[in-house]
Amino acid sequence: MNILLLGGGGREHALAWKLAQSPALSTLYAAPGNPGIAQHATLVDLDATDHRAVVDFCLRHSIGLVVIGPEAPLVDGLADNLRVKGYPVFGPGKKAAQLEGSKGFTKDLCKRAHIPTAAYERLSSKDGALAALDDFGLPVVIKADGLAAGKGVIIAETREQAVEAIEDMFSGAFGAAGAEVVLEEFMVGEEASFFALTDGSAILPFGSAQDHKRVGDGDTGPNTGGMGAYSPARVLTPELEAEVIEKIVRPTVDTLAAEGMPYSGVLYAGLMLTAEGPKLIEYNARFGDPECQVLMMRFDGDLVELLLAVAQGRLAEQGPVQLADRTALTVVMAANGYPGTPEKGGVITGIDAAEATGARVFHAGTADRDGAIIAQGGRVLNVTATGGTVKAAQQAAYEAVDAIGFPTGFCRRDIGWREVAREEG
Ligand code: ATP
Repeated sequence: MNILLLGGGGREHALAWKLAQSPALSTLYAAPGNPGIAQHATLVDLDATDHRAVVDFCLRHSIGLVVIGPEAPLVDGLADNLRVKGYPVFGPGKKAAQLEGSKGFTKDLCKRAHIPTAAYERLSSKDGALAALDDFGLPVVIKADGLAAGKGVIIAETREQAVEAIEDMFSGAFGAAGAEVVLEEFMVGEEASFFALTDGSAILPFGSAQDHKRVGDGDTGPNTGGMGAYSPARVLTPELEAEVIEKIVRPTVDTLAAEGMPYSGVLYAGLMLTAEGPKLIEYNARFGDPECQVLMMRFDGDLVELLLAVAQGRLAEQGPVQLADRTALTVVMAANGYPGTPEKGGVITGIDAAEATGARVFHAGTADRDGAIIAQGGRVLNVTATGGTVKAAQQAAYEAVDAIGFPTGFCRRDIGWREVAREEG
């Protein structure tokens, strides 16, 4: 079967690597891809915002499955436009993708389905939002409703910060994403991510992970798209996982289906493990990046078969997702300047030497310049290794990191610290 994979980050490199291992695959096409993805796929020049061009491509290349990596094309309704033409797609349609595209939509769904989450109010005017502040204690969480690439969430410790954040969001700084804000009660606990495949009816758990959002060691400095991750997140015990499925994921899937917008794809639940039990922070409508990289390192099954079963509504026929018990850990190597303006063009060497240690190096923001790999974005490489413990996986990942030459880049040196500390008791 021919498959089209959309996206060009580390997440899509990990997906491409696994898709390419399936005996069911004939040709894998990827757009835009990156030099890592090019090891497994034919890169094609295709604009995912041009839905007609994507449909045409599928027709011309007999595509049997489209895998949509990032959120933007999902929120934009690409999956619907492909499904209408009969192409199986891994990823939700526009209505169900509002789970990621609109925080207010998700909060209202939680209310209807009695899903545990932080208390909230949706506000569409500055004055309304300022007045609503009185309903919340401090800290208070202020969120732009729409997609803001992780930058639309402010945790205000003081009332002054809260007022400033609200004024900022309604100033137009967040474009359409900030036309509405959600105020939320601040939840206390440890965060973990849980992944589940669903075809709108059946649900198959796809493991857990924890990421590191801050740019600096010890979780300091500004937020990023993620500087590293590991899987599984052992704080999410089998008992807690069962509770998450029963109280959060199952009601979400059933409510969306009952309301005529069945969700098909991967549900990525961002959770807060509070003293009262797990609560939903947010949903994403796709695999996380870099969480996907660690999940794929643990995945031992046939990814084509599994994603196709989701796309064709046959998930109930599948056995449990085969995830190795070992820990996978990924370290993001970023270009100097990230998460501000990253320095482009820095030459990278030693990827083969890093992989010779047994690790895998997934490409994110790289480019091929006359055969040399150069940095082309903020997050550049995901150096990923496995081990019997988090400590072992961490050591293996950093051994591989140290084999890479990237003078204009940096990485955190403490990915996994929380879990390593727990292991060391
Ligand atoms: P991203 O895309 O980076 O995951 P996002 O912009 O979609 O983030 P959220 O995940 O909703 O936004 O929030 C980002 C972070 O803010 C969370 O990971 C969590 O650390 C914190 N956060 C959000 N909501 C709350 C809350 N109600 N209580 C405590 N912390 C919160």
